[in-house]
Amino acid sequence: MASAYMHTLAEIRDNLAKGAIRPSEVLDSCLTRLAQTEPRIHACITVCAEEARKRAAVLEAEGPSDPPGALWGVPLAVKDVLCTRGIRTTAASRILENFVPPYDAFAVERLKVAGAVIIAKTNLDEFAMGSSTEFSAFGNTANPWDISRVPGGSSGGSAASVVAGQCFGALGTDTGGSIRQPAGLCGCVGIKPTYGRVSRYGAIAYGSSFDQIGPLARTVRDCALLLSVIAGHDPRDATSRDAPVEDYTAAAGRVGLRGVTLGLPVEYWAEGLSAETEKVCRAAVETAAGLGAEIREVSLPALPYGIAAYYILATAEASTNLARYDGMRFGLRVPGGDLTETYAASRAKGFGEEVQRRILLGTYALSSGYYDAYYTKAAKVRRIIAGEFAKALERCDALLAPVSPVVAWKPGSLPDPLSLYKMDILTIGLNLAGLPGLSLPAGLGGESGMPVGLQIFGRAFDEAGIIGIASALEAALPALGEPEDVSDAGFN
Ligand code: GLN
Repeated sequence: MASAYMHTLAEIRDNLAKGAIRPSEVLDSCLTRLAQTEPRIHACITVCAEEARKRAAVLEAEGPSDPPGALWGVPLAVKDVLCTRGIRTTAASRILENFVPPYDAFAVERLKVAGAVIIAKTNLDEFAMGSSTEFSAFGNTANPWDISRVPGGSSGGSAASVVAGQCFGALGTDTGGSIRQPAGLCGCVGIKPTYGRVSRYGAIAYGSSFDQIGPLARTVRDCALLLSVIAGHDPRDATSRDAPVEDYTAAAGRVGLRGVTLGLPVEYWAEGLSAETEKVCRAAVETAAGLGAEIREVSLPALPYGIAAYYILATAEASTNLARYDGMRFGLRVPGGDLTETYAASRAKGFGEEVQRRILLGTYALSSGYYDAYYTKAAKVRRIIAGEFAKALERCDALLAPVSPVVAWKPGSLPDPLSLYKMDILTIGLNLAGLPGLSLPAGLGGESGMPVGLQIFGRAFDEAGIIGIASALEAALPALGEPEDVSDAGFN
């Protein structure tokens, strides 16, 4: 067998289940790869080598159950915003640098029950606020396709880890694009499930009415497998829905797109897309048409107001969610002369600049006198956008759009925070509407040679539908191939 880390999750899972390879062998392959690539990629905040080795040994001693757990022995990584019992969970913030949760997030619990081995906690923008993993208190992550570029964000560590071959899949969170955008910029698959599909229990909150947990992996089938494990109702999250969970791996077997209507929202295909991005994505639409899909133009006229609405609502929610970090109950404490000074000193030292900016923005939007002008208005815009999505999806089975207007950029190359916020124009609409979306590698940009992603948006709770469409397209699109080797071996 080729080095274990080179297999897809589905392949390695099957090999593990039939005893062709042992959990500790697979783990060793991933840990070796991790050690070789991490100096250049820096995808992880914490590597849980020891815990993972113990876990693999226990699994091996027990042997697989009958039938084997869906992820028995498979090494996976988890964004460091999801709580892991006994393993520190930082949200990439100084304020939680030494926080060791006493419990697992629901999604992590599900992975463990299915037999997975957690090998690392991945890097992100602090509290998932960002689009490039440049706002981590633990340093930047690099894009495995070109280490001088960002991996996207905020789940940049998860995407980079998957693409660099450190693990077979990872969990991320998507508040305004943080699964789909790094998947797109790094060249892997990512799914943002419908709001309510996966319990947010144990996810460190950013914007609670937007946050969703979802998988990143190298193939559509691998993502489907992970989603099948983490989807489902959980009474500990009041917004988790008791909707039936389908077998997403069955959906991943779809061939052809006959009878499928795909909408192209004109606002997503407008000016602002780089020429190479537009070219690759248009070619993918042609491929879909070649597979039998009917393509039609649709319009979401309020979408251009999405960025403004999102950055008001998400920062408003963030400002209240982050109020709990006050130096008193947990996290960093910087003692001051009195209580108020201690709050201020702890928060000033513990939060990075971008997080502080967002707390200020959100507090302002919620302050009396401005609440109606900003928050209420943004909430209305959100309703309108959600309505437009629903209408477009009455006429179409799914919608197609590029993931990002440009390919991965160089760290520090955007002039100001607003330019960075504007990069989210193609992802945030879906979060405002609460719908599911998948990001699929569509090809490499002709100019940059960097991955370009295509999004597939679906109806509420129709993850199976978008997985089917993605998998038919995946089989027909040109494979991206492998990035140049970023391991020590490739760098001598
Ligand atoms: N880039 C967006 C933001 O900074 C989305 C982040 C996310 O989805 N967590 O808010």
